[in-house]
Amino acid sequence: MIKMFRATFSLLVILSLVSCNYKNIEVDMIVHNAKVYTVDEEFSIAEAFAIKDGKVVELGAERAIMNKYRSENVIDAKKQFVYPGFIDAHCHFLYYGLGLTSADLVGTTSWNDVLERMQIFSLGTNEALLYGIGWDQNDWEVEEFPDNTRLNELFPDRPVILRRIDGHAVIVNDFALKMANIEVGQIVEGGIVELKNGKLTGILIDNAMDLIEEILAPYMNDDDIKNGLLKAQKNCFEVGITTVDDAGLDRSQIELIDAMQKEGSLKMRVYAMIADHPDNLDYYFSNGPVKTDRLNVRSVKVYADGALGSRGASLLEPYSDKPEEWGFLLASFDHYDSLAASCYKNGFQLNTHCIGDSANRYLTDVYAKVLGGTNDLRWRIEHAQIVTEIDIQKFKDFSIIPSIQPTHATSDMYWAEERLGMERMNEAYPYQSLLKANGLVALGTDFPVEDIDPLKTFYAAVARKDLKGYPEGSFLPEQKLSRKEALMGMTIWAALSNFEEMEKGSLELGKFADFVILEQDIMSVDEIHIPEIKVMATYVNGEVVYKRK
Ligand SMILES: [Zn+2]
Repeated sequence: MIKMFRATFSLLVILSLVSCNYKNIEVDMIVHNAKVYTVDEEFSIAEAFAIKDGKVVELGAERAIMNKYRSENVIDAKKQFVYPGFIDAHCHFLYYGLGLTSADLVGTTSWNDVLERMQIFSLGTNEALLYGIGWDQNDWEVEEFPDNTRLNELFPDRPVILRRIDGHAVIVNDFALKMANIEVGQIVEGGIVELKNGKLTGILIDNAMDLIEEILAPYMNDDDIKNGLLKAQKNCFEVGITTVDDAGLDRSQIELIDAMQKEGSLKMRVYAMIADHPDNLDYYFSNGPVKTDRLNVRSVKVYADGALGSRGASLLEPYSDKPEEWGFLLASFDHYDSLAASCYKNGFQLNTHCIGDSANRYLTDVYAKVLGGTNDLRWRIEHAQIVTEIDIQKFKDFSIIPSIQPTHATSDMYWAEERLGMERMNEAYPYQSLLKANGLVALGTDFPVEDIDPLKTFYAAVARKDLKGYPEGSFLPEQKLSRKEALMGMTIWAALSNFEEMEKGSLELGKFADFVILEQDIMSVDEIHIPEIKVMATYVNGEVVYKRK
């Protein structure tokens, strides 16, 4: 009898203890009935989590969270899949936004097709300057740069500027050439003003494009840029991106982004790389990095070379399909040395665009000189596309972070071997080797060069195939990433490459409640179906920014 009394008594005590804690803690939001990939240290899976003041309070099993917390905002994830918000570690967010307000030339099948699209676009706009983005002569039957003869006939009295998809070449009409005072025989360091039979063709490559930038500026006012940023943000939220690393912005653009974030219109988090220009550098080196919850300015972006498609990538040996060309570095050796030294001195990361094996060779040497050995300064090489084994070793020895874009591999695979020849292909897009070197890779897209969709990045990284499943045996399959590695590359490793791993990149106590809900599981669904998976909702700081209808 006494025993039974005791048992009943203890049960009562336990019950009362439980009930007095039951749903005791009020939070802003609970997400439950989910499979949550937290991407924490153990890569653990949770079923539910609670959010307060934009941050994750606790994650755990369904009952543990539901019994402990209450909220007016309870999201039933219906057994769907939650991941930390995707980070695009290398893109051109602002530039993509501007592109959304200009003519879209992506997917054009010929130069005539480009001209037709420009004619249609010109009818629907009264802009004083016609701007188009996205042509790629590699997609055309005649894979050669066009000249501007027809462009001059169609548009004799206003400037027309058409950017190649990789942003490393433009074709402009004579009207624009005149406005910018570009003349036959003009020499530009790190660039080409193209001539054919002694005549300007309108093609400007790499640094020569700066000549045109100046006439472009007056046409891009703050309202246009704001408008573009908001459009870009909307599209990015629809695909689950919650942070963008914008690879090269001027001070005025960064300040505009900051202002829009502070007024609340721009909710996207932005890691802004400072464009290598004396005005920008003078300002940020004397004022120091900028860090808010949504903005992080602590790195400088510089170009070592151009792109492989336009043969601007700087190679150690000549191009296989054009033996007189090697590509070239875009600035003097001194420039890279002194920039590296001042980034080091002022506590900024240096993030250098390196495509060709020569660019990767030279810049990893510049980094090595300044960094001296392993370190935690997280200097980055952007793209790291063609890298010899010797130079891959330097990513390890000097703790350099490879910031890579898996869709570049699957977009370029059709013609990369023409440019490089068979032998050099084992240096091409060596993502798994780079990962092994330093233990992490940051993944991005380089949009608008590629599609913005991070699931296409994930697919390209793990499958090394195009959307049709070609090639069957995968493109250089030994360089695939595992699904776990690819997910980490889009979340926690990308955060690390930004010095943001304490606040994002995984769903953990105290981190931002930035997450995405997917209809299916990217970690287990059949490979070929990954790109079709639907984003159900995207959250930034615990606030819904996209919801599928
Ligand atoms: Zn880029």
